[in-house]
Amino acid sequence: MKNTKVIAIANQKGGVGKTTTAVNLGAALGMKGYKVLLIDLDPQGNLSSYLGYEYSEDQITITELMLSVVHNSFFDIYKSICNSEANHVDYIPADINLSSAELFLAQALSRETVLKRILIKENLEYDYIIIDCLPSLGILLMNALAAADSLIVPVQAQKFALDGINLLLDVTQQMQQTLNPQLKLAGVVVTMTDNTNMSKAVIKQLKHQFNDKLFSTHISKSVSATYSTYTEKALVLYKNKLGQEYKSLANEIAVSYTHLTLP
Ligand code: ATP
Ligand code: MG
Repeated sequence: MKNTKVIAIANQKGGVGKTTTAVNLGAALGMKGYKVLLIDLDPQGNLSSYLGYEYSEDQITITELMLSVVHNSFFDIYKSICNSEANHVDYIPADINLSSAELFLAQALSRETVLKRILIKENLEYDYIIIDCLPSLGILLMNALAAADSLIVPVQAQKFALDGINLLLDVTQQMQQTLNPQLKLAGVVVTMTDNTNMSKAVIKQLKHQFNDKLFSTHISKSVSATYSTYTEKALVLYKNKLGQEYKSLANEIAVSYTHLTLP
């Protein structure tokens, strides 16, 4: 069995770069030779659209997998896995139907561990599983934190960026103390930095609060990010500054998991 690392990318603040980080970190790790599975755990389905997902009749999404676990019925996870354009990178899509999860999970036994039970049962052959979370502290986020062994928090270099971070860290700590003792904060990554004093002040504050848990790679603000979602091509797949930065972030992460040997 592979020693799969499961990373949740979360921040309940919207639009801070979670999805952009999940896609590009995944693609950068794929370029290094690791096998990567991205999981879209957001009813907005942004990660899926970024990767060019198109609905087809025999394709199932994360919603059906979770429903099967809740109903204790058979599921074939391979029917949910899509190949992306990036080498070694697959993904499980989500769409708006996932917004019903709050309802169907409310009735379920051990409702925080539904995603975890999908991943354990399947014994998947991936080096990294990266979960792109939605901007909320609800039950889907709990599922990501229960299934993950580490958490990456993207923080936008902007006013009010740190509001709510302590709440997320509290929830993470509660998860560590209850369902998932091995959960760790892998680090905070600052996104959309620029030359403004505001951006510098946020970085300074993050350094003060998180110390060596602040990744030394900073992700700059650049229109290439939005362009890349539009063209459905990860930034790391072509030459540009943000792509380089995400490769450097992937290096930092791979180094912190050095026990993972390349295939
Ligand atoms: P949500 O909370 O809605 O899921 P998110 O945290 O996943 O949002 P993204 O979707 O990755 O955030 O990014 C939000 C918007 O900002 C997108 O339009 C994206 O293209 C843009 N963006 C992401 N990273 C950068 C960047 N480094 N520079 C400029 N724009 C960026
Ligand atoms: Mg997102």
